Amino acid sequence: MDENFMLDNEVSQQLYHQHAAGLPIIDYHCHLNPEFIAKDRKFDNLGQIWLEGDHYKWRAMRTNGIEERFCTGKETTDWEKFEKWAYTVPYTMRNPLYHWTHLELKTAFGVDKVLNPGTAREIFDECTAKLRTPEYSARGLMKKYKVETLCTTDDPIDSLEHHLSLQKEGYEIKVLPTWRPDKAMAVDVPANFRTYIEKLSEVSGVTISKYSDVIDALQVRHDFFATVGCKLSDHGIEEFYAEDYTQAEIDVLFNKVYGGADLTKEEILKFKSAMMVEFAIMDCKKGWTQQFHFGAIRDNNSRLFAKLGPDTGFDSIGDFTIAKQMSKFLNRLDTNNLLAKTIIYNLNPRDNDLISTMIGNFQDGSVAGKIQFGSGWWFLDQKFGMTAQMNSLSSLGLLSRFVGMLTDSRSFLSYPRHEYFRRIMCNLIGTDVVNGEIPASEMDFLGKMVENVSYYNAKEFFKF
Ligand SMILES: [Zn+2]
Repeated sequence: MDENFMLDNEVSQQLYHQHAAGLPIIDYHCHLNPEFIAKDRKFDNLGQIWLEGDHYKWRAMRTNGIEERFCTGKETTDWEKFEKWAYTVPYTMRNPLYHWTHLELKTAFGVDKVLNPGTAREIFDECTAKLRTPEYSARGLMKKYKVETLCTTDDPIDSLEHHLSLQKEGYEIKVLPTWRPDKAMAVDVPANFRTYIEKLSEVSGVTISKYSDVIDALQVRHDFFATVGCKLSDHGIEEFYAEDYTQAEIDVLFNKVYGGADLTKEEILKFKSAMMVEFAIMDCKKGWTQQFHFGAIRDNNSRLFAKLGPDTGFDSIGDFTIAKQMSKFLNRLDTNNLLAKTIIYNLNPRDNDLISTMIGNFQDGSVAGKIQFGSGWWFLDQKFGMTAQMNSLSSLGLLSRFVGMLTDSRSFLSYPRHEYFRRIMCNLIGTDVVNGEIPASEMDFLGKMVENVSYYNAKEFFKF
């Protein structure tokens, strides 16, 4: 893993080192806890920062035959967990975890050694000693990786107290909230929905007794998020909801579910379809960007879900049929001039070309790359997945207008994923130049293109 890691030729190397490597990071979608930034969390050791909350690593460890107590268990120490991780690392070769692990060791800690059982102790001790210095706090790491802006993922009922305190303090890195209102349309379990809506009522100060009150309450919160600098929404959906419905029907459905009765499958789809439109209108009116992460099939293992809860490594790629509904949803908004800037992330790589062509239907010349095909997400966030996403976007759309990479991570050590992405992108472009498919005389433009996809497109697009 030298300086030309994954850069196969001189043009790729030139593009990366001269145009990508030095740029700051705009991490426009992540799941970092804003409290850790506000309080500038210090980490006890490498085991803690690496294994606390990282379901990618837990999944690999379980696959490698490691018992659950060394993944999520409270009864094992950070060192004991780390030791099992170090044992697992060689078995992750060809999985992105192997590259991420060593990129993190190298770029954060300056450790050039390969992690395996033989080096585990010295690497743990060296990194842990560094983690105990101020340079390696949450903020220290963000500074080290030249993070300029990051967007967390937040519920409409969240107080955003930590974002506010960071702003009050005048913290130099922009830490902005993202509006993620999934629970406001989660009518699948009436009791949970009711509990959520009651909290929404309390936080917004809007008394809720009918559907339009819910929208009013959400609008209050949407306005509040805007005052804290929010510029994006995010929606985790299985599929695009675009059923036909009337307002009268939705009013009745709200009363039914709020009263505690189960909705039928069709009624749930109608309700979600209506909410998706309401959310989209709010975003469009504010000039925000709406993001859709779709296609996961979650919590597949009910035994372990009951024990460990969500986001613990038991999700996978779904196979929902999406083209017609996605088209109908986007068209419904576009017809009424209510289509906000949009980013669509698929989890099933089968849908790459579908999305690359779908986004072309709704580009209207108002903003370059108004409708975006999001960077390889979750299971596709690796060399193969990112390359496939960029090749599809290049072939069927404009790679040059892509807003680029995000970490989608819960860890302060995940920023090298931007480097990983930039190297892969530079290698794709550089290889085309070497092969004579892109003219070498256009190196000035290509240098700018690399800079744009790495950084400037996002800066221009989101207008933080
Ligand atoms: Zn996410």
